[in-house]
Amino acid sequence: MTERPHLAVVGAGPAGLAGALAAAADGVRVTLLDAAEQAGGQFYRQPAAALGARRPQALHHQWRTWERLRDALDRHVGAGRVAHLADHHVWCVEGDSGAFTVYALRGPAQERGVAVSADAVLLATGGYERVLPFPGWTLPGVVTAGGAQAMLKGGLVLPGRTAVVAGTGPLLLPVATTLAAAGARVAALVESADPRALPRRAAALAAQPGKLAEGAWYAGQLLRHGVRTLTRHTVVEAHGTDRLEAVTVAALGRDGHPKTGGTRRIPCDTLAIGHGMLPHTDLAETLGCTLSGTDVRVDDEQRTDVPGVWAAGEATGIGGAALALAEGHIAGRSIAARLHGTAPDPRRWAAAARARTRSREFFAALDTLYSPPGGWPDLITDDTVVCRCEEITAGQVRTAVGTLGATDPRTVKLLTRAGMGWCQGRMCGPAVAGLAGCAFTPGRRPFARPVPLGVLAELPGQEPDGSAPAVADRH
Ligand SMILES: Cc1cc2nc3c(=O)[nH]c(=O)nc-3n(C[C@H](O)[C@H](O)[C@H](O)COP(=O)(O)OP(=O)(O)OC[C@H]3O[C@@H](n4cnc5c(N)ncnc54)[C@H](O)[C@@H]3O)c2cc1C
Repeated sequence: MTERPHLAVVGAGPAGLAGALAAAADGVRVTLLDAAEQAGGQFYRQPAAALGARRPQALHHQWRTWERLRDALDRHVGAGRVAHLADHHVWCVEGDSGAFTVYALRGPAQERGVAVSADAVLLATGGYERVLPFPGWTLPGVVTAGGAQAMLKGGLVLPGRTAVVAGTGPLLLPVATTLAAAGARVAALVESADPRALPRRAAALAAQPGKLAEGAWYAGQLLRHGVRTLTRHTVVEAHGTDRLEAVTVAALGRDGHPKTGGTRRIPCDTLAIGHGMLPHTDLAETLGCTLSGTDVRVDDEQRTDVPGVWAAGEATGIGGAALALAEGHIAGRSIAARLHGTAPDPRRWAAAARARTRSREFFAALDTLYSPPGGWPDLITDDTVVCRCEEITAGQVRTAVGTLGATDPRTVKLLTRAGMGWCQGRMCGPAVAGLAGCAFTPGRRPFARPVPLGVLAELPGQEPDGSAPAVADRH
C-alpha cells in the first residue's frame, strides 16, 4: 500500500482548520500544529478547559460554523487522518519541492524541540495587531484591543471595570460590544476614521449584505449599552501614576492632526487600543516566499511562489474569518489534488472562490477607510518609549534620523537597538518606520520564535528530542 501524502499545516485558526479538513477529506495525512492549547485561532479562541465555561458561545459570533469545524476536526483526529499538535510553537520551516521539515518548540516552557517532515506546507499563521505609541501607552491598564478580547474569550476575565476602546479598524466594534456585554462600562469607542467616507465605497460594501447587517448589529449593541462613539478622534495621551486613570482624546482635523481646543479627558482604568492588523510572514519569508507589500503573495489556488508551500488566511492579507475559511478551503483542495498528482479542479471550490472575491473586495474598501491619523508620529513626545523590549524612546529614534542620518528602520536599529529585543521589532517596527519617515516593511528574521540554544545544538544529524520520528509517523 502506498503511503498517503503528508501535509503540515501551521496555524489552527479558521484558515488552517478549513485547509486541514479539506485536505484530510481528500485523502491527505495532515499534521496540524498550533501554538495555542486549543484549535480556533483568534476568532474562535476558546476558554481554557479548566475554567468550565457554561456558555462559551455567548462571547462568539458564528458559533455554528465553529461547531462544524470542531466536530469535523474531532472526527478526522479520531480516524487518524489528522494529528493535532496543540501547544507547538513553530520557529522555522525549511525545505522545498515536496520535502519539508517543520521545527517546533513544545509546551508552555518551549524548551523541547519537535520536527515534523511533510510533503507540503500550508502556512495559516494569521496576523497580529499594530499598536502605535503615544504618551502613556506603557502604563498598566493599556492593552491591545485584540488582547482585551483574548482575555475575555480565553480567560473569561475583563481587563478592567471602565474601558475606552480606541484606535482604528473593524476589530474595535466586537471588542467594545463584547466588553460591554460582559459587564464592563465602555466609556467611549474612539475611532480615528471618518465615517463620511463610507458612501464612496458603497458598491463594494453593498456586495456583502451579511457584513452590513453585522455592522448594523454592532451599532445597535453600542446604542443598547450606551457606548458613546467618537469618530475622527484619537487618544493623544494616557494618564496615571502607577496605572491608567484617564485618557485624553482629541478631535482630528482634515490634515489628521488634532484640532486646537478639541480635547476631552475620559476617566477609565482600561484602554483597549489597536491600529489595524499585520500579517505574520516570518515562516513564509524564511522559506523564500515573495511578499506583496506586507502580505504573502499567493495565486488563485493559494500557492506561494515556493513549490509545495501554500498560504491562507490573514497571512496573505487582513480580511476576517470568512475570508480565512474560504482561502483555507481552497488551499486544502488544491494541496490534495497536487499531492495526489492530479490537476486541481476549481469547480470543487467555486463557492469558496466567490466568497473569497467578495470578502477581498469588501476589505479592500474598508482598508482605505481605516488608517491611523496622518499626523500620528507628531503626537509621540520625545520621552515616549517606542521599543519596549530595549526601552528606546522616540527622542533616541529622532536623533538617529535627524542627527546621525539614518533613513531606514534597519539603520535606526543599528544605531539605537530599537527592534533588537525579545519581539524582534514586531511591536515597534511600524512606529520606528513612521518616525523615520518611511513605509513599514516586515523585517526578515531567520526564526519565527526565540529558540533555546540547547534545541539548536540537538539539531544536526539526530532527531530533536527523540520524539521527532514519532511525531512524523504518528498517523
Ligand atoms: C488578538 C486578535 C483578536 C481578534 N479578535 C477578533 C474578534 O473578536 N472578532 C473578529 O471578527 N476578528 C478578530 N480578529 C481577527 C481574526 O483573527 C481573523 O479574522 C481570523 O481569525 C483570521 O483567521 P486565520 O486563520 O487567518 O488566523 P488566526 O485566527 O489568527 O489563526 C492563526 C493561528 O496560527 C497560530 N500560529 C501563528 N504563528 C504560529 C507559529 N509560529 N507556530 C504555531 N502556531 C502559530 C496562532 O496560534 C493561531 O491560532 C482578531 C485578531 C487578533 C490578532
